[in-house]
Amino acid sequence: MKGQIIKILSNLYTVCDENGNLYDCHSRGRFRNDNITPTVGDYVVFDDKNNYILEILDRKNTLDRPLVSNIDQAIIVTSCKKPDLELNLLDKLLVVLEYNNIDPIICLTKLDLLSNDELKEIDDIRKYYQYIGYTILDNTQIDELKEKLNKKTTVLTGQTGAGKSSLINKLDPNFNLATGEISKALGRGKHTTRHVELIEMFGGKVLDTPGFSSIDLKQMTKEDIKDAFIEFNEYPCPYKDCMHINEKECSVKQAVEDNNILESRYENYKKFIEMINNRR
Ligand code: ZN
Repeated sequence: MKGQIIKILSNLYTVCDENGNLYDCHSRGRFRNDNITPTVGDYVVFDDKNNYILEILDRKNTLDRPLVSNIDQAIIVTSCKKPDLELNLLDKLLVVLEYNNIDPIICLTKLDLLSNDELKEIDDIRKYYQYIGYTILDNTQIDELKEKLNKKTTVLTGQTGAGKSSLINKLDPNFNLATGEISKALGRGKHTTRHVELIEMFGGKVLDTPGFSSIDLKQMTKEDIKDAFIEFNEYPCPYKDCMHINEKECSVKQAVEDNNILESRYENYKKFIEMINNRR
């Protein structure tokens, strides 16, 4: 039978089958010999009579903090005010998600704190990100968000104070998102590893801990970053390996000049490339 590991407590793996039934399974030593350690999120073949995990299926992706595999999508909880909209952080998260093959859903919060002029500004930004292919919802669009969760494994991410916990509460008041604030209140250090768990919600699963709390672009090359700016591919440059920075004839730079690419996107792209350059 096939299922997904939703929780690991020492040697006990809780596996959820396709119908939502739970099985407490053990693993066999051979995983250790194969250098495969089962993680939360792993899809497995298991023996439902003897409760043994037989095989770990190929992973779509693996995050290391928190350690979890096969994340389909991430809700980027993005505050528009208090804290202010941070397009640099948003673009950085989008880059990391693209790199990890995770679909982003941008969820805007605190729109009610904006003046009309500010709303207009946010609306232009929203239209741009939608135009290049991203899903953007407001935190009032709860039904749409619920639909997005169906049949997917989802993680929440976004800046501190953006409203991850209150969003989760709107979706399901029983769900307790473990945020950094809670760990602090309990006097635990920042880097304390805790057990992570996938919680069933609206036909899908949601990780009970925010992901990408400390994001850097450490494993990525400059080419990875270039590829992650998905709209750049729409503007093929004369020079095939164009990095869109110092090249004289560059379609991407032209598109920025023509206002077809959002300037902040291009500026953030240059910053990320510079970060990679400074690393070496
Ligand atoms: Zn170029």
